[in-house]
Formats: sequence, C-alpha cells, structure tokens
Amino acid sequence: MNKENVFEQLEHIVGKDFVSNREEDLYIYSQDPGASLPRHVDFVVMPENVEEVQKIVKLANQEKVPVIPMGGGLTLSGLIIPVKGGIVMDMKRMNSIIEINALSKYALIEAGVTTGQLLSFLNENYPNLQPPVPDAPPSATIAGNVLIHGSGYLSQKYGNHGAMINGLEVVLPNGDICKMGSCAVSKYWFARGPIPDLIGLFISSFGTMGIVTKLSVQLFDKPKFREVVFGLLNDPNDIPNILLKITETGLAEDVLIGMQDKPDWMKGYVFIIAYVTGESQEEIDSHIKIFKRIYRKAKARYMKTAERIRKVYLEKPIFAAAAADYRKGGGFEYVGANMPLENLPEAYKKGAEISKRYGIVPTLGSRLIGGTHNIVMFFSYSFNRADPKDMENAREALHETNKLALELGGIPWKAELSGQQLILKKMDPNYKKLFNTIRSILDPNHIMNPGNWEVK
Ligand SMILES: Cc1cc2nc3c(=O)[nH]c(=O)nc-3n(C[C@H](O)[C@H](O)[C@H](O)COP(=O)(O)OP(=O)(O)OC[C@H]3O[C@@H](n4cnc5c(N)ncnc54)[C@H](O)[C@@H]3O)c2cc1C
Repeated sequence: MNKENVFEQLEHIVGKDFVSNREEDLYIYSQDPGASLPRHVDFVVMPENVEEVQKIVKLANQEKVPVIPMGGGLTLSGLIIPVKGGIVMDMKRMNSIIEINALSKYALIEAGVTTGQLLSFLNENYPNLQPPVPDAPPSATIAGNVLIHGSGYLSQKYGNHGAMINGLEVVLPNGDICKMGSCAVSKYWFARGPIPDLIGLFISSFGTMGIVTKLSVQLFDKPKFREVVFGLLNDPNDIPNILLKITETGLAEDVLIGMQDKPDWMKGYVFIIAYVTGESQEEIDSHIKIFKRIYRKAKARYMKTAERIRKVYLEKPIFAAAAADYRKGGGFEYVGANMPLENLPEAYKKGAEISKRYGIVPTLGSRLIGGTHNIVMFFSYSFNRADPKDMENAREALHETNKLALELGGIPWKAELSGQQLILKKMDPNYKKLFNTIRSILDPNHIMNPGNWEVK
C-alpha cells in the first residue's frame, strides 16, 4: 500500500475534515473500552453517504488495504480494532432516520443512527412505538447492535435483535451496492422474505461480508404501563424451573437474572428481575399477583424494593458494570454466551468459581431470548485499566470463560479474536469450509475486517 496515495484519495472522497492519519486521532480508534490490547490503525474515515462508502471500498480493493466498519465501537470485545491495520470506517455521519412506517411498523435508518437517537425520535414523534435497543450506552448504533445478534428489553417476548432486521442496503466487498429483503423487490422495507434469505450472512460476521449503509428494523407497540417484579432465589439449581413457570404465563416482556457479590446487599442470592406490561394499572396489579404466586411456588421470594431502586430498574437494569470500580480507572468486559437452559445452573456455579480464582468480584447475569429458547449469559470481569497486569488477568479469565461456555454447550457471543478461534475449533468442518468459500468469493482481496473469523 502507498500510504500517501491512499490518504490523498480518501481526502478526495470524503473531504479534508473527515479523514485523519494523525496520531492523536488514530490513538482513539486503536482501542475500545474492553480488555483488548490496542492495535495499529492507519486511517480513520467518516463517509457521508453510500456513494462515498462505495468509493472507499473500491479504493481499498485497489490498494489491498483492510476496511473495518464501526458504529459506536462498544462491543467491548475489540471487534472494531483492526487486526491488520487499515482504514477504520466510522459510520456516525450517516445518521438519517429516513422513514418510520407506523403501519408496517418499521424504521428505515442509515447505519450510523444511534440507539439513543432513534429512541428519542420515536418518543417525541411516535410515542406508541418502541425500537429494539440494548442496555448499552446510547451512543451504540442500531446497526452495530442488530448485526451482532444483540438483545434487549424486548427480546424475551420478540427474540434477538438480528431477527428483527427486515432489510439491508450493503456495499459488498467488491463495491456493488446491494439491497436485501423485501426492499430488493418492493419499495416497502417491511419483511425479510419470501425470497432466499441472505441477510443472515451479515449477522455476527463482524463486518467481514460488507458494509451495511441502510437498514430496516422492526418497531413494536409500546404498552401504557410497565412494572418490574423482583424475586430472590437461594440456589442456582432452581433457575430453570422458575424461568419455565414465568414464561408459561406469557406475561413477561423481559426477564433477567443475576448473581453478583457487589453491592453487598446482592451477595448470596440469585435475583430475578421480570418486567410486566399492561394497558391499565389494574392489569399490571393482577400480573404482579400472578408473579408473586409463581415465586412462592418455585422456592423464590417476592422482593419489595425501595422506590429509588424500582425507578433505576424501570429505566435500565444495572448489572455487570456495577462491579467495575471506575474511580480506580476501572473497566469491564464480559463473555456473553448463548446458553441452553439446562446448563444454566452449572454456568452460574462455574462462572463464580472462575471469578474467584482470578480475584475478581463475581458478576453474573442472564436474559431470556424468545422464552427459554436461548439464554444470553453474562460473565463480567472488571479490571483497572491503568494496570496492565490486572488487564491481562481479566483477559485470561475471559478466555477460560469462553472455554467453559463451549464445554457447557453454549456459544460465546460477539467473541473477541481468541474466542472466535475457540468457536472455530469446535465448528463442523464443512460449515467452516462453506463460510470460507462464501467469504473468498465475496472478498477475494480479503479486505473486510481481516483477522476476524479467520479460518486457519
Ligand atoms: C454497559 C454496556 C452494556 C451493554 N448491554 C448490552 C445489551 O443489553 N445488549 C446487547 O446486545 N449488547 C450490549 N452491550 C454490547 C454492545 O455495546 C452493544 O451490542 C452495541 O449495540 C454494539 O453497537 P456498536 O454500534 O457499538 O457496534 P460496534 O462495536 O461499532 O460494531 C459491532 C460489530 O459490527 C460491525 N459493524 C458495525 N457497523 C457496521 C456496518 N455499518 N456494516 C457492517 N458491519 C458493521 C463492526 O465491525 C463490529 O464487528 C453493552 C455494552 C456495554 C458497554
């Protein structure tokens, strides 16, 4: 690669103000808030539209420079830190909310639209509709989240966020602009089919298949009332039973469980945090009664909480980050693993053992995805960012946890590089072969976020 030439061409495509090779800018893009070590970046560029994205991808092919698409950069697992240098393409300037279709219930947006932006736009203009958003900071993008199979408060009821994609506009690695989903045939972005569904190629592939420039995501009716019902269990072995009892009712919008040693009042219990919704306070009250009965029958206790805590949890559940001591320069990263329900008790017990072995406060949690079809399990590890040894310690704990998740029949979610390698090691060889074949046809110059999902 001729670096000077690439820089000049990038300037020509996006204008001087939206490309940089200055050390101070590259420093920011060489890392993320998780435990990954920083890696080298050559350029950062911020395109304004699909034509600019296309020109950058064509240039990257010509010069054989890697391109790494980035939204909010908040996965914590280093997925937007280049493995082989190259151009970080920060999508945040492409932030138009193009259309809200209140009848077919979808939002057509550009890839840089953040979760906070869409949420506040809907609150202001379509107060009866709600988008799928994670509990991540509001600067996370909708695209970045749905493309990694994210989940959030609607997931228990409606499934993971990747399944809520109706359509995509992508710039393929060869520079072609391609529409996928109903929008490939119709002017409406209302559904994924009924045509061969290739959208899945772009989910959990960490930017290796192309760059998403527009997307349609499903919107959902917002219930008038929402309440949180806390319960306490003493033994992780009782988790599957109570989750089945809760989901049988069909009344919970979101179900989280957690077990953490900090703050002190949480130590020694498994917390159940179920959200119920309804059209009236009476309906909510009757749902709460049902939950109290379930808790009692399933060896759990209903927990009445202080108004302050109730308000916090209605706004956003606080897990994981609670264990990181930010005053000491603390950070945290978690292994999010998709787990089958049967092995959840074991995951809680063994997860706590790993934390203790590494001298980290145990912080474990999970969220149901589409009933008990799939559980996302969070094994969080905090560290002091100013202490390289402490960060190394967290990385080792994360690696051991990825192994544990795989042993228990789970699959690490949004896995960092070493976790991806563990998954690939266990993967059906013909699935790997298929993936590699598709990838080399789409991206013969291997420019799209190389190093991720690298079949060795
Ligand atoms: C405190 C905290 C809480 C969190 N809670 C949750 C939670 O409840 N649920 C949840 O799902 N996640 C959660 N996360 C994880 C993560 O922050 C979110 O999933 C977030 O939405 C990811 O979006 P992003 O814009 O930061 O993605 P990025 O990190 O920018 O990108 C994610 C991946 O997608 C690729 N990508 C990004 N944009 C494009 C594009 N336009 N085209 C092609 N590929 C692209 C990137 O290359 C990368 O591989 C949490 C994180 C934190 C820090």
